[in-house]
Amino acid sequence: MMRKFFNVRGTSDFKPSETLFFQEINQQSRNICKKFGYEEISLPILEERELFSKGVGEVTDIVERQMFKIEGKDIVLRPEGTAQVIRYYLQNSLYKQNDFYKFFYLGPMFRGERPQKGRLRQFHHIGVEAIGSDSIYIDAEIICLCFEILDKIGVTEKELKINTLGCASDKEKFSVTLKQALIDRKDELCQDCEKRLEKNPLRVIDCKNKQCQKVVNSLNLEMDHLCPDCKNRFNDLMSLLKDMNIDYTYSPHLVRGLDYYTNTVFEITSNKLGSQDAIGAGGRYNNLMKSLGGPEIPATGFALGLERILLILSDIQRAKKLDCFVAVMDKENAKLGFSILRDIRNAGFSADFDYKNKSLKGQLRVAQKKGAKFVVILGEEEYKNNSLVLKNMENSTQEIIKYNELIEELKIRMKS
Ligand SMILES: [Zn+2]
Ligand SMILES: [Zn+2]
Repeated sequence: MMRKFFNVRGTSDFKPSETLFFQEINQQSRNICKKFGYEEISLPILEERELFSKGVGEVTDIVERQMFKIEGKDIVLRPEGTAQVIRYYLQNSLYKQNDFYKFFYLGPMFRGERPQKGRLRQFHHIGVEAIGSDSIYIDAEIICLCFEILDKIGVTEKELKINTLGCASDKEKFSVTLKQALIDRKDELCQDCEKRLEKNPLRVIDCKNKQCQKVVNSLNLEMDHLCPDCKNRFNDLMSLLKDMNIDYTYSPHLVRGLDYYTNTVFEITSNKLGSQDAIGAGGRYNNLMKSLGGPEIPATGFALGLERILLILSDIQRAKKLDCFVAVMDKENAKLGFSILRDIRNAGFSADFDYKNKSLKGQLRVAQKKGAKFVVILGEEEYKNNSLVLKNMENSTQEIIKYNELIEELKIRMKS
């Protein structure tokens, strides 16, 4: 018996309607990023493993468990975009020009771990990185940009959580305090967290283990570790968010699982997603450049997960897909119908036709399924008078118009 093939677990096939929606989201995001002055870059899917162990951090889930390795090579399928964009920035010595760079990218990312709901092996990110400024305005700008994208594509119910880790020395101080607080309660933590406590105590905070969360929730993590400068920065950010009418929740337990974050961190969640509820996250990463062998240059950014957004929006009505469907009453008119089809396409509208000799009723059903806004019907009677029927599928009205006026009439109606 012939075997059957399936897509690899943790990957998804986008059917045409999903692909269309996916493209729409990409296009909307592109437009908004450009409006904010960000330039698009496209980087390879393959990168050196060490870029992420040095950049993202050795004791992080991404590097410890989730990298998609290429057998026998020190190469991985990229798990995220930030370290890669910084690699590009350093490789091209962009810092020498002492400029400020704003990049965005769209593309697939990969994880090697066992797939589960909301965690795919291949997924897509829209990411934004602003490199070369420590200004709090840029932190505020990327959150605003992120919200504008989500609003535009229809993610209305969302929650913004923000926190600050402070500068590198604040973070270090926090890490030491946290370790002291947790060391006596080591027995209550999971095995992973026992290890984390030694190497990277901050990671204990976002452990998903219930028992660990209970321990963490009993700690008071509020801003004691912050220096006055970092405290002011965070207050400034909160007031900027208020000015922009962006609601937020201050979440001292939000630390993000990656080593490179300092100061501002944020996460956007949707209650429609359950436990894997983040649709996007980001923050400031002023230390990443240095840990990748570059100079000390501040940067900030975020990434949105497209598959998770698609999950939320799956119940939202999709935009109409086709401008016009050409239906013919009998086969003798097919040749003329086919020629009208070409005229409509040449005028710049999307149009389709019946290739299966269906009845008029059958053709109208196809038109409906394809989401056609208009149907041009070519009937015997109208054919004799050089005219045709133009049916508006949205309000089910129809009218008879002259054949040679079709394109003009379509143009008028498409505008409104
Ligand atoms: Zn500080
Ligand atoms: Zn744990």
